[in-house]
Amino acid sequence: MILIQGKGVSAGVEHGPIYFYHRTDAAVVKRPAQDLEQEKRRLAEAQEKTKAQLEVLAKKCRREAGDKSAVLFETHAMFVDDEDYMAAIMNTLREERCCIEYAVQQAGVQFAEMFVNMDDAYMKARAADVRDVTRRILNNLMGITAGGLDAEEAVILCTDDLAPSETIQLDKSRILAFATRNGSGNSHAAILARTMGIPAVCGLGESLKPEHTGRLAYIDGETGQLIIEPDELTLAAIKDKHEKQIETKKLLQSMKGKEDVTLDGRRVSICCNINTPEDVTAVQANDGRGIGLFRSEFLYLAAKDYPTEEEQFQAYRAVAAAMGGKRVIIRTLDIGADKQAAYFRLARETNPAMGVRAIRVCLNRPEVFRTQLRALYRASAYGKVAIMFPMITSVWEIKECRRACESVMQELAEEGIPFNPDTEIGIMIETPASVLIARDLAKHVDFFSVGTNDLTQYTLACDRQCNDLGKFFDPHHPAVLRALKMAADAAHANGIWIGICGELGGDLRLLPTFLAIGIDELSVSPSSVLPLRAELRRSIAKTCGLEMLEC
Ligand code: PEP
Ligand code: MG
Repeated sequence: MILIQGKGVSAGVEHGPIYFYHRTDAAVVKRPAQDLEQEKRRLAEAQEKTKAQLEVLAKKCRREAGDKSAVLFETHAMFVDDEDYMAAIMNTLREERCCIEYAVQQAGVQFAEMFVNMDDAYMKARAADVRDVTRRILNNLMGITAGGLDAEEAVILCTDDLAPSETIQLDKSRILAFATRNGSGNSHAAILARTMGIPAVCGLGESLKPEHTGRLAYIDGETGQLIIEPDELTLAAIKDKHEKQIETKKLLQSMKGKEDVTLDGRRVSICCNINTPEDVTAVQANDGRGIGLFRSEFLYLAAKDYPTEEEQFQAYRAVAAAMGGKRVIIRTLDIGADKQAAYFRLARETNPAMGVRAIRVCLNRPEVFRTQLRALYRASAYGKVAIMFPMITSVWEIKECRRACESVMQELAEEGIPFNPDTEIGIMIETPASVLIARDLAKHVDFFSVGTNDLTQYTLACDRQCNDLGKFFDPHHPAVLRALKMAADAAHANGIWIGICGELGGDLRLLPTFLAIGIDELSVSPSSVLPLRAELRRSIAKTCGLEMLEC
């Protein structure tokens, strides 16, 4: 038996033979170019071919994994003639008078490095996208057809790392699971695996070898283990887990359409967190009660310049309309710290998590704020939109936010544009300051939503981006849980409701504590809705205590 420990990035247990993915990359040789114009024409042809292939892939992906995943290939297609990428290719071509293959390869290396050097884990993982598009253009230039899977039976597919387009091109009926030597939970291969419900483990390192091909293995996307030829005892344990998994899946499906209520009648609304309008598909597929957090900054992060009022309106309206009468809480721009967009030209800060971020950016830049508020209020006429402000620490901030809302509503009324004047206004409780003055803040808003990711970071003085903090970053810390209770007591004393939209909301071990505290809404990733609903429906609220708040 060989046990290789990696990181589980898509849950589930599977077993089958190991198969190493064949990639047919030809080496690029730097050749001098006789005719630069001809090299440019070759590139233009390869670009067209690449875009056509990506269009086919996007369609295939939309059928198999939904809109959200298909967007990836549409983004790849846009990158094919990205201005900066093209400029880098043309520079090399002009300066080195070399073949176009070499110029494309160099631009790919340069752009991938640029992403790898970014601080944000998500942006780092985008290097794989650049390599993927570059490889595709090169293959088209060199007349190479992509590698693939020529196994007869279903296999555990192993590789160094899988590019998104490779993942989607594979015949899924013959893939039991993915196992990669490198990669991260943020890679698109991991994201696609999760969307398609295929178990995946990454970071298995050099212990995973091509020589293992053909050997029987078990993979556990939860524990991150790949076990080759397990002994009898291990085998029995894995089989047991596999059977339980099948049962759990069936049980979870039966949770669709059921109410979010405990055995003794306590209701807790289970909603979803989304980053883009495309994520609504997953919300609907998992029967989310509403959207508890739409991180609007992703619209800004995906753009090259400030998104216009109209662009934002279209996005917010699409989500509001798709959710029908269900509440959609849209958080205003939370840019800064780890979320950076170059066109904002935010100053370099020594301590950006405590710098000009989130509501501070909006209050410092009234025009940016106004544009977003106009788009939000316009969308409020098409569904049940609520507006939420991030990183609030003082009463004056919410008063200023409310004044900005009033002014926008007045403008829209004068222009005869429809909006809902009763749009709910809430704030995120994610700083210790907001907890300490929660009683005062509650007088000015309709709801609180606790951002436990930031609340943990600021309460425990632990940087949420730092991977080395280990046990010091403890969202179960009594200080965090007591802060939660203080905020909930303040909300209820003022007759408003309180939810949790940080990662902690989906933590099943804390559900009894949330029930004891009196949390009214939990907003989690779409895939966590059904497990949470199942747990809620077997809980008895009145028996839940506050033991976790003790040191
Ligand atoms: C949080 O801080 O818990 C939260 C939900 O917001 P974000 O993770 O986007 O900062
Ligand atoms: Mg936050």
